[in-house]
Amino acid sequence: EDYILEVRDLKKYYPIKSSVLGGSKNYVKAVDGVSFNIKRGTTMGLVGESGCGKTTIGRTILKLHEKSGGEVIFNGQDVHKLSKKALRALRPKMQIIFQDPYSSLSPRLPVGEIIGEAVRQHKIVPKEELNSYVDKIMESCGLQSFHADRYPHEFSGGQRQRICIARTLALNPDFVVCDEPVSALDVSIQAQIINLLKDLQKEYNLTYLFISHDLSVVEHISDTIGVMYLGTMVEYGDKVDIFKEPLHPYTKALFSAIPMPDPHAKKNRIILQGSIPSPANPPSGCKFHTRCSHCMDICKKEVPQPNDVGNGHIVRCHLYNSK
Ligand code: SF4
Repeated sequence: EDYILEVRDLKKYYPIKSSVLGGSKNYVKAVDGVSFNIKRGTTMGLVGESGCGKTTIGRTILKLHEKSGGEVIFNGQDVHKLSKKALRALRPKMQIIFQDPYSSLSPRLPVGEIIGEAVRQHKIVPKEELNSYVDKIMESCGLQSFHADRYPHEFSGGQRQRICIARTLALNPDFVVCDEPVSALDVSIQAQIINLLKDLQKEYNLTYLFISHDLSVVEHISDTIGVMYLGTMVEYGDKVDIFKEPLHPYTKALFSAIPMPDPHAKKNRIILQGSIPSPANPPSGCKFHTRCSHCMDICKKEVPQPNDVGNGHIVRCHLYNSK
């Protein structure tokens, strides 16, 4: 298989000082042994509630955060073992788009400059071609190139996200982490941005890790889906399989919360008990056991291991133990 990205047993722990234990160190396990692969030119959707570790995964893959364990192999190279120089050379190839386009755009620069700046820095095209290159990228992202001398505040939220996408695309990346890129936008604009990302993917053979708390958003763009709960990937597989038959009780609850287009369609909403436990003090055994209506004795004691139920559909739940 042509995997552009292989993530193996990735861990990211943050130290916290515990005053109870006389200042000895304790850890928040924000990402606690997560593994997955992404095929070139495809999209993996990463879903879960806020605080489940999905954003930390995105940033640790890009080495914007140091890892605490595991490996990130990008195009055959271990990203966290690269020298500073090699990492700098790789940077344009691995990019990120954020949720809030406004705060990531400098208010004092016209958008043509914003897009051109990084292109110049990374010497993507010769100087004399810079302007026409920026124009072309803007047009590809649905922006009019004669607006290159306007400032970010003169654009709407959706257009600002297009500017961020253009700035990223201008670096000629292979892989882009899209971190909740449409969550701040109106629903009608969300679809436009998702369609733009899909078109660009096809045209430029891009690979995405698309992070969202919203399953209905990832449905339209993902080929595979990973579901996160408290730093653990509880279910992973082909989008079609997961949408047809979600297996993990947490995934089922997420699905039951998606509004159905047909109000007469039968659906039993699963209401999760309680709130997400503190990641600093997660439940023993299966981290979901405090909220799971299927909880068994074993769930409180033993951490469920990943089980492949077929076609690479992986579930971490004692209900699906192959033993
Ligand atoms: Fe529920 Fe047990 Fe499965 Fe965890 S392992 S999701 S508690 S049934």
